[in-house]
Amino acid sequence: MCSINEALEPSAEAQQKVQERFMIKNVKGTRDFLPGSLDLWHKVEDVARRVPALFGYQEIRTPIFEYTDLFKRGVGEGTDVVGKEMYVFDDKGGDSLTLRPELTAPVARAIQQENLLRAFPTLRLWYYGACFRYEQPQAGRYRQFQQLGAECIGSPNPESDAEIIMLGYSIFKELGVTDYTLNLNSLANLHCRTIYKKELLDYLTKHEADLSESSKKRMQTNPLRTLDSKDERDKEIVKNAPRILSYLDEESQRHFDAVQSILKACNVPYVINDTLVRGLDYYSHTVFEFTTKSLGTQDALGGGGRYDNLFEQIGGKATPGVGFGLGVDRIVLMLEKLEQSANKLESIWLISNEFSRELGAAVATTLRNRGYNVVTDVQRRSFKNQLTSASKAGASWALILGEDEVNSHSITIKNLNTSEQNSILLSEVQTYEF
Ligand code: AMP
Repeated sequence: MCSINEALEPSAEAQQKVQERFMIKNVKGTRDFLPGSLDLWHKVEDVARRVPALFGYQEIRTPIFEYTDLFKRGVGEGTDVVGKEMYVFDDKGGDSLTLRPELTAPVARAIQQENLLRAFPTLRLWYYGACFRYEQPQAGRYRQFQQLGAECIGSPNPESDAEIIMLGYSIFKELGVTDYTLNLNSLANLHCRTIYKKELLDYLTKHEADLSESSKKRMQTNPLRTLDSKDERDKEIVKNAPRILSYLDEESQRHFDAVQSILKACNVPYVINDTLVRGLDYYSHTVFEFTTKSLGTQDALGGGGRYDNLFEQIGGKATPGVGFGLGVDRIVLMLEKLEQSANKLESIWLISNEFSRELGAAVATTLRNRGYNVVTDVQRRSFKNQLTSASKAGASWALILGEDEVNSHSITIKNLNTSEQNSILLSEVQTYEF
């Protein structure tokens, strides 16, 4: 309870609290991108416009909301996305609509509605747009996020799986993102998958008592999903579960081998991950995911696979397809990290004086040749002033070359963040890691 005086003359802090309570804020899990913070987004958008075009892909844009049935039938009612995460609402006409949680089903809908395949046996499309999922927000996980994706529709052949994977790989390459792994697996054709699911279910049933609560539920609706559970108890059980790759028939094996041969021929590095199943129901044969260790628990940068049954599930003609969706928000987080480390490289200042002008220039040259950005003094200022400028400029390191250093063939290295300093021999500059 506040005093009468406080009530009559509330403090600035109390006033601010009241104001904040009445101020309307953005919805949880959504973000404002303020002026000056969009450069890396533009970079991804620029790559999106250039790289898919190199492979013959054209852009498609679909509405932000669709009839709910599209996702129920296309993505699958047993998935987390449809079961728990969709923004579903009735419009004033009484139709159930959903903010799109992904773009493959909408793109497939547009293709069949507009009969886009009549003119070309293979359709190559890319998209960039907002998706919405009601998930618990954290770094890298939002309720509105952006996906960049591509779909190659009309071919049942492994060449198109390999093409789509190479397109994803090329996008990362063009962006300069290298700190990720491309995981590859096969979910086989429906026949093998059905046999495998039964075997897996039998195995899981034997260990049901030790499974997590969510895997106990998932086991009945889609046993494959227990394979990518993050729960430690489930992981222990999954270790010894039957593996789908032992259940591929000749057709499925041939398909999987062919995808890998092309990736190898094009030097696309990948690892086989036989527990990769992906969260959406429509996949068969190839599935893949780009994962990274540098974003904590939200480790998936994107993924995709082949979906030969999707078109039929949403009421169209049987049409094979393969595609991926990349999470742009997470890619931008990766690019931010890259920028930070790039900035670190720019932050060496070489402090020299009349005893060391030439030597300083030579050391700077050596470091620049090694990829470091080095700033040298051209104003003939005192050591103190040079050091002050280096700190002001946000430099991480000062390399000091004074008379003593010249005489002892050494150089002093000062860490400007911690003020620690040490000396190394000049000959060690060739290999020293900052
Ligand atoms: P999915 O089709 O669910 O695998 O999604 C493809 C990619 O979109 C994921 O690998 C993530 O990079 C990204 N993504 C999915 N959900 C979210 C989310 N809630 N917030 C941010 N990115 C997401």
